[in-house]
Amino acid sequence: MSCIGAAGTLNAWASPLAMHLVLHDGFHMLVCVNYHYIRPSFPELEGIRGITPTQLRSQLEQLSGIGRFVSEDDVVRMVEAEKLDDLDDLQFFITLDDGLQEQWDHARPIFDAMGVSPVYYVSTRPLAERRLCDVHRIHHVRSLHVPADILGVVQSFAKDAGVDVEDVSVERATHQYRYDSPQTAQLKYLLNFQLPRDSRAAVAEALARVFIGDATAEAEVVDRLYMSAENVRSLAQAGQLGSHAHAHAALGLLQRDDAHDDVAQSLTRLQHIGGVPMRSISYPYGSVEAAPSWMADILEELGLSFGVTTVRGANVDLRQPSHLRRFDNNDVPGGKACAETPAEFVARLRAEASASSLVGDL
Ligand SMILES: [Zn+2]
Repeated sequence: MSCIGAAGTLNAWASPLAMHLVLHDGFHMLVCVNYHYIRPSFPELEGIRGITPTQLRSQLEQLSGIGRFVSEDDVVRMVEAEKLDDLDDLQFFITLDDGLQEQWDHARPIFDAMGVSPVYYVSTRPLAERRLCDVHRIHHVRSLHVPADILGVVQSFAKDAGVDVEDVSVERATHQYRYDSPQTAQLKYLLNFQLPRDSRAAVAEALARVFIGDATAEAEVVDRLYMSAENVRSLAQAGQLGSHAHAHAALGLLQRDDAHDDVAQSLTRLQHIGGVPMRSISYPYGSVEAAPSWMADILEELGLSFGVTTVRGANVDLRQPSHLRRFDNNDVPGGKACAETPAEFVARLRAEASASSLVGDL
């Protein structure tokens, strides 16, 4: 779950003229909020972090006090009109990434009871091949095994791959991951900074074989972790299903044609399962690097209306529907990393939009 601060990227994708017009025409924003793991309790070990159903309900109640929830239908309609609705200051669009069964079990009843229509973004390779996405392999292993054991396997993998693991300094790792234990910091540093990017799939494979078992054992984890095709079909019929690509790769790191084919494959499979065409995508990892500007052309070629990133911030216009900004739920009122009241949150968004608009005027 990578996030990039709004300050560095806001202006890169902003349209100052449009913001200027919007601010003089009233204060309207589309605020996308994303969720991953939602379960009643979490493992003591790290690896899987999320929120409980009680926290979800409480957060939705707080958000309902400062804005209105919109559905995918609403966003598609606003994108086509190239204009945000002016009924409310804030419109919240709720998303859930990764197609997890716990979202169906623990979040969907809450959304249904509150009349909220989110979109569940599903990667299709787990359904097609009954294997975990690499990111979920690592989450799963880290939630069940102590960092020292995992570190040992990754270090021996790194040695085989010719990476000089002796250079991993605990000091450097703990500086990067200051909230983690030294061993967790070392593990994360090795995985995310030291191993070559193109060897990450092989690391995830090695971890799966050592800690999860053979393909049959992994398929059992897949069946518990992800939603069934039947559930995915129900979401499609309810207008609540979107693409999270096929292999859960960072699309921007693929060749453009490969990124196109990966998304196209997910759309074909989801339409086959759900019986209706997909209208939007959530880019895996969602950073600027994972969702480069050329994804806009791919969305157009494949008939998608909009895409959501993980670049934090509110959307003050719909000039670039292929790259809507989105908050992690931790970063909005009711979230663990948000100390603001709902009123303070609204005030900050308003101030940030005004500041951007002033910059645009210069
Ligand atoms: Zn994801």
